[in-house]
Amino acid sequence: MGLRSFFVRNKALFYLYNLLNYKYMEFEKIKDFVKANGLPSYRIAQMREAVYVKGISCWQEASVLPEALRQKLDKEIKILPFELVTLQRSKKEPVFKALLKLNDGNRIETVLMRPGKTWSVCVSSQAGCPLGCAFCATGKMGFKRNLTAEEIADQVLFWYQFIHKEKLAERISNVVFMGMGEPLLNYVNVVESIKNISNPDFLGIGQRHISVSTSGIADKFINLASDLPQVNLAISLHNADDEERTALMPINRRFDLDDIKEALEEYLARTDREVFIEYTVIGGENDSPAHMRKLGKWINSIKDNYLLHVNLIACNPAVGKASAPKEAIIKNFAEALQGMNIGVTVRRSLGSDISAACGQLAAQPVRRRK
Ligand code: SAH
Ligand code: SF4
Repeated sequence: MGLRSFFVRNKALFYLYNLLNYKYMEFEKIKDFVKANGLPSYRIAQMREAVYVKGISCWQEASVLPEALRQKLDKEIKILPFELVTLQRSKKEPVFKALLKLNDGNRIETVLMRPGKTWSVCVSSQAGCPLGCAFCATGKMGFKRNLTAEEIADQVLFWYQFIHKEKLAERISNVVFMGMGEPLLNYVNVVESIKNISNPDFLGIGQRHISVSTSGIADKFINLASDLPQVNLAISLHNADDEERTALMPINRRFDLDDIKEALEEYLARTDREVFIEYTVIGGENDSPAHMRKLGKWINSIKDNYLLHVNLIACNPAVGKASAPKEAIIKNFAEALQGMNIGVTVRRSLGSDISAACGQLAAQPVRRRK
């Protein structure tokens, strides 16, 4: 048995394992720099405050530091591990999308939006995605690589710098893992990035304000319950029929509806937290009364299903099977689920004019289906 699996088997030891193994990356870099240059240790706190409170975009803006030190820092420590390629702003809604170039040339996209009164960031966890769902532009581009914890967390720092520069707000309130990639296939880095994002010494965004969306990597639900019990879990279901779900989401061959149900019941029992069932309503694919009944039946078959809440989202035109449903259908769908005592919200997807909405992130032009 490996050391990790030994610790995983025992919950208390597992917490200890995580504590011992946890490193704060950006902070480590700064600490090393201060040590290597024989600087007084209070500089660490000043640099931390400049980056994570003031939201400086380059070291020159850290006015508290002497000029020579700022110049040295600008040469030796990059604040962000990627470069901005393009930034787009929606003309319809408060939504921004950034295309970022990673150090190895791979590209990812990240989105800043204000769905209500506060700002949310949608982060990518992988460059591309290996799962190839039939309605998703990210899936279409294939898998490039997992992002590091720093590359994930610093997408939030990037937007923090942006809202300060543009004087849009003081803080980012929510982070959703609904950008490119499948977060639970990059589990270790995603967990580390969330610990970093929520650390009060850094951006300090509470774990209850962070949501992880998964296509249903069921064997990781229980790990998430122990590692990050306060983070919100959203499961992209999109179909409650195994055969049809497999056609939409090939990952259903590996984790089918029974696997998801079993893992979800364990997750609910362990956390007692609300879980979101994401259902993208795709015109002509999963939007009939029979689909709705099947979804309701599946949800009602789950133990502790009072903790489940369905989010219905109209499919954004992206690729392959993605086409929008007729407007009345989503309303009927919602009413029918409510009639089965299921909590449901119809969610608006923002930023479609700049291809920033769910399923549209591709980091490259994608030909739309007519
Ligand atoms: N891989 C994860 C998270 C990224 S996708 C997942 O699949 O959950 C984020 C959300 O966008 C998921 O719920 C996904 O199903 C949804 N999505 C993908 N393509 C879409 C499209 N064309 N229209 C609307 N939602 C879409
Ligand atoms: Fe990957 Fe999620 Fe897109 Fe499916 S919907 S291809 S899992 S990013």
